[in-house]
Amino acid sequence: MTTFRIAVLPGDGIGQEVTVEAVRVLQSVGKTTGLGFEFEQGLIGGAAIDAVGTPLPPATLDLARKAQAILFGAVGGPKWDHLPQEQRAERGLLALRKELDLFANLRPARCFPMLADASPLKRSVVDGTDIMVIRELTGGLYFGEPRGIERTPDGARAVNTMVYTTREIERVARVGFDVARKRRKRLTSVDKANVLVVSTLWREVVTRVAKDYPDVTLDHVLVDNCAMALVNKPTQFDTIVTENTFGDILSDEAAILAGSMGMLPSASLGLAGAGRGAVGLYEPVHGTAPDIAGKGVANPIAAILSAAMLLRYSLDRATDADRVEHAVVRVLEQGHRTGDIAARGEKVIGTKEMGDLIVRAVESQY
Ligand code: NAD
Repeated sequence: MTTFRIAVLPGDGIGQEVTVEAVRVLQSVGKTTGLGFEFEQGLIGGAAIDAVGTPLPPATLDLARKAQAILFGAVGGPKWDHLPQEQRAERGLLALRKELDLFANLRPARCFPMLADASPLKRSVVDGTDIMVIRELTGGLYFGEPRGIERTPDGARAVNTMVYTTREIERVARVGFDVARKRRKRLTSVDKANVLVVSTLWREVVTRVAKDYPDVTLDHVLVDNCAMALVNKPTQFDTIVTENTFGDILSDEAAILAGSMGMLPSASLGLAGAGRGAVGLYEPVHGTAPDIAGKGVANPIAAILSAAMLLRYSLDRATDADRVEHAVVRVLEQGHRTGDIAARGEKVIGTKEMGDLIVRAVESQY
């Protein structure tokens, strides 16, 4: 029997509540398929600061390194906001991504038809939207050197540097093509090649990598055009790959197409280890939601869909991932809603009830 080792890092606030439901869904996949999951829980973020004084304890890093995949909740909250930047709860996540060299961030933005009215955009625009935005996470403007502010008697001068190497572009481009291959086989590379030399190299490398993926159709779109098209005709996109800054902005823009924060999963991937899928950290896009934490009302769907991504991208279990996603759709079709996605007057259920319904819907498909 195959056994997968999963590190479970719930973190703080509703991270603790929604991660439990994602684990229960994976357990139900295990129960029905015979797959073995070994879940090991670790401390991260504020919970780790309280227990051992640091947001990423060495024991947690060790656990994450040995795992095939990491299921992460969320970190942070007002209790730790007074701490200096370097010791804040959120540092735990940033340090973990850095230590594991997770360079590709995947954020699906899918509009579920029964929730289309929750989007601020018209149903006629968002209906049918199913996009995956892949953002390069470790290079570009946010990390490039030189950076800093020079103060002179004539005024100040501030510098950030956008820098990418062939290797950095190529590895994220390959993630883009691999993901597009598992979807509708269309990849859009987003750059600003009419102005930036970094984008000239980006386009050159992506075009070269495309030769290894003859079954995937590639097109190049300028970032300003992409930003417009995302809110004008989002259904024209399948998989998007782009550099760090553009991806930061476009993935947030794409998020509003899906309606609620409680519905958005994500993955951060590193290079594949020998004989296995990509190393990956899977987490809901939302934070710790201090306003609703501890009340049992958070929507667990983003965490559960993150577990589906874990099955798909780290464990190469596409059929099981499909089943989890279908289970979510089925429960939504039946009209079950947590508070964040309920229309006025609709009955509202809690985190655990939503988890129970999805677990049952997963099990009924085997
Ligand atoms: P947030 O995502 O926690 O909450 C924003 C709003 O969305 C809140 O009203 C919240 O109640 C609601 N919401 C979020 N997830 C929900 C869910 N699953 N179900 C129902 N409603 C949901 O963002 P914020 O308020 O800006 O941040 C709160 C804390 O979380 C901060 O400390 C921040 O630093 C941290 N944070 C952590 C991460 C992470 O760990 N990846 C990401 C974002 C924010």
